[in-house]
Amino acid sequence: MKTMLTKEILSILSAVVGEERFKTTAEDLVTYSYDGYLQEFLPDAVLFPKTTEEVSRIMTIASVHGISVTPRGSGTSMTAGSLAKKGGIVLCFSMMNKILEVNAANRYAVLEPGVVVAELQKAADALNLFYPPDPGSVAVASIAGTVMTNAGGMRGIKYGVTRDYLLGLEVVLPSGEVMKTGTVTCKDVAGYDLTRLICGSEGTLALVTKVTVRLLPKPKAKRTLEAIYDRIDDAGTTVAKIFEAGIIPATLELMGNTVIRAVEDFAHMGLPVDAEAILLIDVDGDPDGVEKQSAQVAEFCRENGARDVHLSSSDKENERLWAARRSVGGAMGRLRPTCVVEDSTVPVSFLTAAIKKIKEVGERHNVQTAVLAHAGDGNFHPFFLCDKRDEEEMKRVEMAKDELVDFVLSVGGTVSGEHGIGIYKAKYLPKQLGSVTLNLMMSLKNAFDPKGILNPGSFLEHAI
Ligand SMILES: Cc1cc2nc3c(=O)[nH]c(=O)nc-3n(C[C@H](O)[C@H](O)[C@H](O)COP(=O)(O)OP(=O)(O)OC[C@H]3O[C@@H](n4cnc5c(N)ncnc54)[C@H](O)[C@@H]3O)c2cc1C
Repeated sequence: MKTMLTKEILSILSAVVGEERFKTTAEDLVTYSYDGYLQEFLPDAVLFPKTTEEVSRIMTIASVHGISVTPRGSGTSMTAGSLAKKGGIVLCFSMMNKILEVNAANRYAVLEPGVVVAELQKAADALNLFYPPDPGSVAVASIAGTVMTNAGGMRGIKYGVTRDYLLGLEVVLPSGEVMKTGTVTCKDVAGYDLTRLICGSEGTLALVTKVTVRLLPKPKAKRTLEAIYDRIDDAGTTVAKIFEAGIIPATLELMGNTVIRAVEDFAHMGLPVDAEAILLIDVDGDPDGVEKQSAQVAEFCRENGARDVHLSSSDKENERLWAARRSVGGAMGRLRPTCVVEDSTVPVSFLTAAIKKIKEVGERHNVQTAVLAHAGDGNFHPFFLCDKRDEEEMKRVEMAKDELVDFVLSVGGTVSGEHGIGIYKAKYLPKQLGSVTLNLMMSLKNAFDPKGILNPGSFLEHAI
């Protein structure tokens, strides 16, 4: 049921943050009614807290009055995670955006939740340190948003995902109480690992007000390779061969033909529009090792069917090659009015089969598809190009998606490698997790949030 916010409650909430940071005009509400998902959900008010104490006071009021609260970072969620699915207030953390500490001696950083990940990367880089998680949305996504979706991205194959860099959190519970988890040390086995439980919980358990992350020393060298293929199967085989040889590149991305053509049409970078696939591969580490490994990877690409392999010779050229990959989001959006993006993940040896499956289900249901993949970790992004105003077409998209998910689960994969569940994928959860797991998850949700006020309408409510 939609929460009714009376004038009296609204004025109590407004007094916590002040009128400037309390938005209720139609324009403001519409702005915060979207994220990367297809549907719109209007909140009743949007608040911008600046301190943990403000967040705590807001939650105390929300708890007493039973008001729904949906946390939001930068709103790039692909699953309606940051939308007020049952109305109530959106708590937007974009004004809590200070980097509080970068500790080079102990290699960690402490951040407010709204710090943009690219800003953290820059601050680490200035001290010769490195924060590896690198989602495609890095230039805008907030650190808390990436914690709550356990975001991955391009470097997952070698460096893992956000969870692997998380040392501790400060959170506000739905009751308004403040809780700290973890420490700044790499080792910590004091009690249940609540840091990791909260990570990936999509804003359903607690509100993050501080994040402590681990940093690595910055790799001394990096080379980027671009391998061009006439057959996408050969690109898939190359990925498998690189792994079999025990080489772990820093990134290994695959772009299929429709994606290549869309990017070229959008950004005019001189990409080979007749190629069926491009692999973009980064190798990093010590300079000698990088030279040796990049030559070895180039050889693997040629041996496995690449018609051309280009090895970068400078940081500037590395960036030029990656600019194409980073333009994909904008480029694909121009092809059809709606672009449904999937993020299933399979064991890497099934990647080629998964790519074939995308084509097959697309053709069978008469839906235009395209493929992009973080190929090195088996995480692929099929695009279903469609128009959400055409109900019949959207039904066909849904059927194609369902069949793809069946395939993914049949080979031991997951319905979401990085975007999370939200409302978009809730229907698939019972198939992957089963009722025992889902019921335990619901008990955990009730322990954190007995009144069900935090991000209501999210995945568990649809899956159980
Ligand atoms: C172009 C594009 C490229 C992308 N590429 C990738 C990619 O490569 N890899 C990847 O993993 N994802 C990717 N994503 C998805 C998305 O960027 C990530 O999920 C990102 O982590 C979301 O960050 P955000 O700040 O936008 O969070 P939001 O979208 O605002 O929120 C995400 C979730 O976190 C919760 N949340 C936000 N802040 C808080 C807080 N302070 N406390 C509690 N809960 C909170 C929200 O309720 C929501 O459930 C991409 C999205 C786009 C649009």
